[in-house]
Amino acid sequence: MEKVIIIRYAEIHLKGKNRSYFERALATNLEKSLKGLRHELHRMSGRWLVAAFDEARTEEICERVGKVFGVHSYSVGLLTGSGMDDIFRAALAVAPEEGTFKVETHRAYKNYPLTSMEVSAELGGRLLAARKKLKVDVHTPQNVVYVDVRENGSALVFCKFLRGAGGMPVSTSGKGLLLISGGIDSPVAGYMMAKRGLTVELLHFHSYPYTNEGAKEKVVTLAKLLSPYTQVTRLSTVSVTHIQEAIHKTCAAELNVTLLRRFMFRIAERFALERELKCLVTGESLGQVASQTIEGMTSSNAVVTLPVLRPLVGFDKEEIIDRAKEIGTFETSILPYEDCCTVFLPEFPAIKPKLSYIEEEEKKLDVPALVEEAMGTVETIDL
Ligand code: ATP
Ligand code: MG
Repeated sequence: MEKVIIIRYAEIHLKGKNRSYFERALATNLEKSLKGLRHELHRMSGRWLVAAFDEARTEEICERVGKVFGVHSYSVGLLTGSGMDDIFRAALAVAPEEGTFKVETHRAYKNYPLTSMEVSAELGGRLLAARKKLKVDVHTPQNVVYVDVRENGSALVFCKFLRGAGGMPVSTSGKGLLLISGGIDSPVAGYMMAKRGLTVELLHFHSYPYTNEGAKEKVVTLAKLLSPYTQVTRLSTVSVTHIQEAIHKTCAAELNVTLLRRFMFRIAERFALERELKCLVTGESLGQVASQTIEGMTSSNAVVTLPVLRPLVGFDKEEIIDRAKEIGTFETSILPYEDCCTVFLPEFPAIKPKLSYIEEEEKKLDVPALVEEAMGTVETIDL
């Protein structure tokens, strides 16, 4: 028998071609997430098995598998032969020493000589005889020994279903560009879209020297924390310093943020189109700050044609914070560093500026030249 990690995916919606596409994407992503750890990945109808790994690193493997989207649940168990003696030996290895238990059997192999009930009864009896401190309780057992009899003369034996990250394998929904700040919201937005199968490349705007190296380091750390989920291992940065200075010098102060955001969207779209990314993703949430009103979003959307996904639009800040804590980005997000949005922040930002007024003010700037200059500052960091 061999120690394995059994990986299950939700099979609903998986039909025809779609199914093998999904399965292959999941396998690719599992391989990526297990990079650097010795292992083999085997297919077993409706499951993937991680095998041939260093048992001392089981926990580390589980932790990584637990972050791969598309994994519905997983279990650490034993792969053994499907004869009762083999199943019994494996059950002894995974079953607890004492307490109450029951056996639950599932047969993928329908021609197996025993029914599921018979396997459970036989195995339960043997376990009881072997472990005097075990007791059967079929209604509320403290432990369950699961047996999964497979087609090819093998069986899987395990005790726990661990919850996977859910969602769909990253890449199965195409590619987008996450506008990532150093704040709490955008990393969560990236996580949520990756969960729906989107590959999210990362773009960060800085205003060096108004924002410092620390601010950049913070975003790099956030991107690294996200990468087990998003599987994206690079981050691009663009300077918007010259744009902020131009806006500050030329336009109505109350529109500083609104105008900057329009530039961010334009630059992001240029960047996305050059890399064949099909949408933009932001961490905006309706009404959260002055620029996140319908008018604010309309003003930013007006300068791009790519769809802008805002997965947090209906979330309360508390909900976003809870999610940030869950995925482990919160502590980094709250470190105190300047973001480019806070540089030149006007005392009274316009909350519901009219588009015509915004466009009028913007005419005072050479928009294409400013965007072009920004594109010349793109840097890409390998995480
Ligand atoms: P966050 O917590 O993500 O920083 P926020 O509540 O601070 O969001 P804003 O500063 O208005 O809100 O930013 C709204 C969204 O715009 C962010 O979620 C992010 O997607 C994008 N954004 C803001 N600043 C930057 C930046 N410096 N670089 C890249 N994207 C940014
Ligand atoms: Mg912010």
